[in-house]
Amino acid sequence: MTEAANAWTEERLEQLRKLWDEGLSISQIGNALGVSRNAIAGKAHRMGLPKRPSPISKSATEAKKPAKAKPPAEPVNLPLRLELRKLSWSRSKCCWPTGDPKKTGFSFCGGPIVPGKPYCLAHCEEAYTTSRDSR
Ligand SMILES: [Zn+2]
Repeated sequence: MTEAANAWTEERLEQLRKLWDEGLSISQIGNALGVSRNAIAGKAHRMGLPKRPSPISKSATEAKKPAKAKPPAEPVNLPLRLELRKLSWSRSKCCWPTGDPKKTGFSFCGGPIVPGKPYCLAHCEEAYTTSRDSR
């Protein structure tokens, strides 16, 4: 296929302008004039023809949008989370939870732990002798 980009006669330019105004796609005009799609696009640009939204580029733009919605950000202000963060600074404190983890009054015991155990002596006894259900 020979590129006819150099053969832009007045007649062909008129035809391009006419087909452009009729709303034909760039590739349709290219087929009609026997030149490549790129040649039409370039020529139209140099002629200052009004840009037309191409259905192809439009759908390509839409395809760039993320298909999946982002998961909601994790709630960072949960007292439990904050307390756990504080607690991670010192592993020598009792991490027995007191209060409701969903409320701001929640905290950990923070007492000195029994070596090798996550709780202070009192809470060790509570943890290993009492079941949660009976509290
Ligand atoms: Zn404790």
